[in-house]
Amino acid sequence: MIIILLGPPGAGKGTQAKILCQRLKIVHISTGDILREAIKSNTALGQEAAKYVERGELVPDSLVTKMAQERLTCDDAKEGFILDGFPRNLSQAESLDEFFNSNGLLDYSVIYLETSETTIIKRLTGRRICKNCQAVYHLINVPSRKEGICDTCGSELYQRPDDSESTIKNRLQVYERMTAPVVAYYSHKGKLLHISADNEAEKVIEAILKFLGKDS
Ligand code: ADP
Ligand code: ZN
Repeated sequence: MIIILLGPPGAGKGTQAKILCQRLKIVHISTGDILREAIKSNTALGQEAAKYVERGELVPDSLVTKMAQERLTCDDAKEGFILDGFPRNLSQAESLDEFFNSNGLLDYSVIYLETSETTIIKRLTGRRICKNCQAVYHLINVPSRKEGICDTCGSELYQRPDDSESTIKNRLQVYERMTAPVVAYYSHKGKLLHISADNEAEKVIEAILKFLGKDS
């Protein structure tokens, strides 16, 4: 099964993808996670990508498309995958189409997590992440038991630098300009499922599983 998750930053793509990949036994491929990992390990890709990620800009297609395709051809993606954060502009969507066509992957679902701006700002400014295991918390919606400390591994929580209010504004503008056309692209293909992602996470997952026929 192949699922593409679309939606603005803060829509909950990562949260939903993590639950879905467990339920459906397929891998979660997040280009944002891969880039943050590359930045942390200070690889050549990470060094190049850091300046874009920090500003909330898109990392150039020449870097991201190759990175995504390499990940998609790994063995663990053979049974299916959930793409989170890719494609993020029309050129990435077109290259993904080519990749799907040349690999005979014709059956995929595109889920659009529609989210209001108020929800987006609240979710992103309250988001906190574990430095060690990358578990995601929220100051109000999903607080850790002990403030600033990960429930799972006891490490410190941090705020993603691009979750600061000024960078969020830029990410939203980039989203409108670059990624909103991707939503229209899949909608024209008749591939798009709209889900209202302002609801709490459990309701959203329920709606997605129902659509996929996996709700029993
Ligand atoms: P969010 O969806 O909350 O914005 P992500 O973790 O998906 O967060 O992405 C964080 C950053 O990583 C983006 O702002 C961008 O700089 C970079 N990035 C992630 N995916 C892509 C992509 N497909 N193309 C270009 N840049 C990307
Ligand atoms: Zn942790």
